[in-house]
Amino acid sequence: MDDGAPELRRRVAVRGVVQGVGFRPFVHGLAARLGLTGFVGNDRASVFIEVEGTPAAVRAFERALVDDAPPLAVIDAVEAATVPATGAAGFAIVASRAGAGGTTLVPPDVATCDDCLREVLDPHDRRHRYPFTNCTACGPRFTIIESLPYDRPATTMAGFAMCPACEREYHDPADRRFHAQPNACPACGPRLALRHPSGSLLAEGDDALVAARAQLAGGRIVAVKGLGGYHLACDATDAAAVARLRERKARGGKPFALLVADVATARRLCHVGDDEADLLESRARPIVLLAKRGRGAPAAHEVAPDNPFLGVMLPSTPLHHLLVRPLPGSPPAPEILVLTSGNLADEPIAHEDADALIRLARLADAFCTHDRPIHVPCDDSVVRLVEGAELAVRRSRGYAPFPVRLPGEVRPVLAVGGELKTTFCVAAGTHAWLSQHIGDMGSLETLWAFERSVEQFERTYGIAPEVLACDAHPAYQTTRWAERAAAALSVPLVRVQHHRAHVASLLAEHGEAPDTPLLGVAFDGTGFGDDGSIWGGEVLMTGAGPARRAAHLAPVPLPGGDAAVARPSRSALAHLWAAGIAWDEALPAVAACPPTERAVVASQLESPTTVRTSSMGRLVDAVAALAGVRQACRYEAEAAIELEGLVAGEPADPYRFTLRPGDPVVLDPAPVIAAVAADVRAGTPPAVVAARFHAAVADVVAATASHLRAVTGIGRVGLTGGVFQNVTILRWSLARLRSEGFEVLVHRRVPPNDGGLALGQAVLAAST
Ligand code: ZN
Ligand code: ZN
Ligand code: FE
Repeated sequence: MDDGAPELRRRVAVRGVVQGVGFRPFVHGLAARLGLTGFVGNDRASVFIEVEGTPAAVRAFERALVDDAPPLAVIDAVEAATVPATGAAGFAIVASRAGAGGTTLVPPDVATCDDCLREVLDPHDRRHRYPFTNCTACGPRFTIIESLPYDRPATTMAGFAMCPACEREYHDPADRRFHAQPNACPACGPRLALRHPSGSLLAEGDDALVAARAQLAGGRIVAVKGLGGYHLACDATDAAAVARLRERKARGGKPFALLVADVATARRLCHVGDDEADLLESRARPIVLLAKRGRGAPAAHEVAPDNPFLGVMLPSTPLHHLLVRPLPGSPPAPEILVLTSGNLADEPIAHEDADALIRLARLADAFCTHDRPIHVPCDDSVVRLVEGAELAVRRSRGYAPFPVRLPGEVRPVLAVGGELKTTFCVAAGTHAWLSQHIGDMGSLETLWAFERSVEQFERTYGIAPEVLACDAHPAYQTTRWAERAAAALSVPLVRVQHHRAHVASLLAEHGEAPDTPLLGVAFDGTGFGDDGSIWGGEVLMTGAGPARRAAHLAPVPLPGGDAAVARPSRSALAHLWAAGIAWDEALPAVAACPPTERAVVASQLESPTTVRTSSMGRLVDAVAALAGVRQACRYEAEAAIELEGLVAGEPADPYRFTLRPGDPVVLDPAPVIAAVAADVRAGTPPAVVAARFHAAVADVVAATASHLRAVTGIGRVGLTGGVFQNVTILRWSLARLRSEGFEVLVHRRVPPNDGGLALGQAVLAAST
C-alpha cells in the first residue's frame, strides 16, 4: 500500500446462519469496496475469510461484517486472528472445504423477494412467468439442501447445469444472483408440468401453468408441488369443490388453509391488523390464523365450518404467485384457493413425485408438478398474533430447521417429542435444532417419515447422539421408537415427564437453563403423570432437581379414556359428577348423551379403575359442552376453539375456582361447573358463559401464582401447554399476572403445544 502503513492480514470465521443467505457475495463486495485482498469460502462449520490491507480498512471490514450482514443471516459468533501478510493480489470466492467438525446452521426456505417477483411479472424479462425464479435473498434452502457446506452440487439443483446467461449472473460480483446456488431460468432450470393422475403429461412449461389455472377455475382439485411437498388446491369460493376435497381427503370438519395473492384479498376474508399484515408478508410466509369476517365474506362456508378463524397465507414461491394472481393475457383463475397439505387424513405430506402420484391419485384431478426434487419434506407453518408479536402454533416451512441457542454446552442428544404434532430435536454444543412438523404418529407412514427426517438431521449436522430422550408415556409411538433406537445405539434413554418438558421448552426458548426458578403453568389436554394418571392442569416449580408439582387441577375420572377426548359431553358428565351436580336433561351436555350411554358413563365414573385426569383441556371441553357449544369434536380442540371464538370484549364477572392450600395446592373447578350449569339453566347466552369461564382461568392462574409466590418467593411465571394457544386465555392470564407484579414468560417462536415438547426433552436429558 502506498500510505506506508504495514499491511494487516486477519483470518476470520463467522458462525451462525451464514450459508445460503448471500454471505460470501456480501463479503466479496465488502472487501472490494474497502480495497482489501484475500478470499472467502464455506466449510462445514463456518464462513472462513482472510483479508489483507491497511489496518483501518481491515477494522472497518470486521465491523461491517456484523453490522451490515445480509438480512437473512444470523451471526452467532465471529472469531478473528492476525496472521502473516502474504501480499497476494485480488479477492476471490474459493472452493468450499468439506472437512472439520462443528456445524453451520442451515437456513430456512425464504419467500420470493420483491425483485424476483417483479421479474416474474415483467413481460420483457427473461424470467417472465418462470415459477422457479430466485436469488441470494430468496428461494428454496432447507428443503433442497442434501449436505453441508451449502453449494449447488450439495442441493437438489445438482442435476441442472446453468446456461451461459445464468452462469454470468452467478459469477458477477455485481449481480443479485452472484453465487445464488439454486439460480435458474426457463432455458436451464426446473420445468413445470401438468399431469393426469395416471401420470400422463398434459402440458409443459407455461402451458402447464395456464392449464392448471383452468382446472382450478373449472372447480377441479389440483395437486401442486410446493417448496416442502405437495398441496391440494381448489377454488375456495366453490362450495362443491371444497366439499369434494374434504370428502376425498377424509378431512372431517377440520378447517382448510387459504392462499391469496395479497393482504387486500386477505382483508376481504378476515380482520387483518397491521401486525397481522406484517406477519402475512414476512419472509417465512406462514399460515396466519385470523378472525373471520361475518357473512358475505367470499370463501365458502365449507372451508372452515363453524370455526371462528381462518388460516390464510400469501404466496411463498413464484409458482404460487402465478396461480392466484390475475395474469395479463391468460383467462382468469380463482383469487382465493384452498391450499391444504397433500395427504390423506393424518398421513405425512407427500413430497416425492412417484409417491405423490400414487398416494394422491384419488384425491387430485390433476398434478401441477416439476422436476426439482424436494429433499426434505416440510409442511406449512401456522402462527397467531398476541400483543403484536407472533405465537407459533406450528413451526415448519420458513422457520425450520429452527435453531435455539442454549445457555450452556450440552452433549449430543436426540429428543423424539410426543405423539401429536410431533417434532424432534437434536442438540449439541450450544445449539438445539427443532425439526419441521412431522405430524401425528398414528400411522406407519408417519413413523417412516419421522425416522427418515431424524436420519437427515443427524447427517446434515453431523451429530451422533450420546443420549436419547422421550416422553414418559409408555405407549407413545415415539417412546417405543426411542427405546429401540437407544438399545441399537447402546446409549441411555431419558424419559421426561410431559409437563416438565413443556416448562423446560419454554425456558430454553428464552435462553434459560431448565433449573432456573420458575412457576411453570402447564395447561394442556393430556400428558402422562408421575402417578400414572393423566396430567394437564399443572403448576410445576423448577429449581434444583426435577420440577416439583406445586399445584394442579382437582382430578376427575375420564370415562372411556380417549373416547372422552372426542366427546366433550363425557367430560361434562364427569365434571358434573365430581361437583355433585345431578345430570339434568335441561343441560345440553346431558341431553346429548342417550340414557344408555349415560348408564355406561355412570358406572365408569364409579369404577376405581377408570383413569383420572387433572387436564385443563378436558375442563374447557366440559364447559363448551355444558354451554351447548359442542358435544362431539371432529378434530383436536374443536370445542375449545369454538368456545374461544364466542368471547368478545374484555374479561368480566369471572367464575371462581376454589383454591385448596396444601402441597400440592389443588384447584377445584366444582364451583365453576356449578355456576356454569346455573347460568345455562337460566338461559345465559353461551358467549357470556364463555367469557366468564375464560376470565376464571386467567384468575385462577394469577391466584395460584400469588399463593405460590408467598410460599416460595418465586416471582416469575411461565405459561406453556396447548391451552395457551388460546389467545384469550393467554392474554387475560398475562394481564392478571402483570397486574400482580409477576414477570411472565410466554412462547413466541417455539409452540406451546406438543410441537415444542422435544426441545424441553432435549435440554432436560442433556443435563442429567
Ligand atoms: Zn429473489
Ligand atoms: Zn439459465
Ligand atoms: Fe402437551
